[in-house]
Amino acid sequence: MAKTILVVAEARAGKLRQVSFEALGAASSCIEAGDTITALLIGSQIETLASELAAYGANQIIVIDHTDLEQYRPDAYVAAVQQAIEQIKPELIILGHTAIGRDLAPLIAASLSAGQLSDVVAIEKITDDLVFTRPLYAGKVFERVSFASTPCVLTIRPNNIPPLSQDSSLQAEVINLPYTVPTLHTIIRDVVKKASGAIDLSEAKIVISGGRGVKSADGFKPLEELASLLNGAVGASRGACDAGYCDYGMQIGQTGKVVTPEIYIACGISGAIQHLAGMSGSRVIIAINKDPEAPIFKVADYGIVGDLFEVVPLLTEEFRKVL
Ligand code: FAD
Repeated sequence: MAKTILVVAEARAGKLRQVSFEALGAASSCIEAGDTITALLIGSQIETLASELAAYGANQIIVIDHTDLEQYRPDAYVAAVQQAIEQIKPELIILGHTAIGRDLAPLIAASLSAGQLSDVVAIEKITDDLVFTRPLYAGKVFERVSFASTPCVLTIRPNNIPPLSQDSSLQAEVINLPYTVPTLHTIIRDVVKKASGAIDLSEAKIVISGGRGVKSADGFKPLEELASLLNGAVGASRGACDAGYCDYGMQIGQTGKVVTPEIYIACGISGAIQHLAGMSGSRVIIAINKDPEAPIFKVADYGIVGDLFEVVPLLTEEFRKVL
């Protein structure tokens, strides 16, 4: 029987997040002929984003547009998702493994008494079964899991499952669904934005991270310059955050963000196991450290033994020439 997969798309500052296109790519690897991929857009004044979702493989788009949904609120968003689920009865619901996705997915799963799997990095179709891979124990092992029943809920790790290539000629049916405000709901008075970088750390293709070796908040400046030239984001070790050189929103690692960029440049970071848990899945790791014995060199593809305050400006200069 034909099935429907629901992808809960995420928009920020009026733009769809890359992980939403990746979630559509994930959905496309789970379907057979006759199945439907439905994308769900929740927010305020977001209908214009629907065509982009169609271009990345959504056959149908449900838009729930309401001023109450401008900011993420768990009670409001879960109610909106439930309203969409009632309409289309999906077998599989896919979200990005973002702060919102991680909050919303278990709420959706609990409301449906469904199984839930977080942080999926790969999907295989083996005969009739869908097999999902996800890391455990801070990336030391991978487990492969299938669901015994439907519906089920997944979050996918950003930068791991490729999106389909964009095809602007693709069209999708757009359904505007009215939103029923739940009787009991929270009201957001203010949103405090801590991380200021234009590029989201967990979705960046290039991440330049600083550790305690940057020595001060100003020590991040050369890293920021290189990141802005390469269109990357700046991250940090907990050592740098604990020392007060930067905000905890930038922390990468076991108790921070998990990143899987194409290039990760670690500057003045020793390479503690807890830091590696957040970045060892990066495609190419470049380490800059003045200690040749620093453990970061064991996971690095390229290592530069030297002072970051000399090496990083030199790299910036060279990249500027090439780019
Ligand atoms: P350090 O270990 O002090 O290393 C600084 C490095 O900079 C050194 O290798 C030094 O040689 C180099 N250096 C100094 N000056 C220069 C220079 N001028 N040029 C080049 N190199 C220079 N850590 C995380 O990062 N993320 C986490 O999520 C995390 N979670 C944790 C959870 C728990 C439960 C615990 C116990 C710890 C956690 N930690 C985490 C902390 C982790 O164990 C390390 O203490 C931390 O990663 C060290 O940060 P660092 O590498 O910046 O500092």
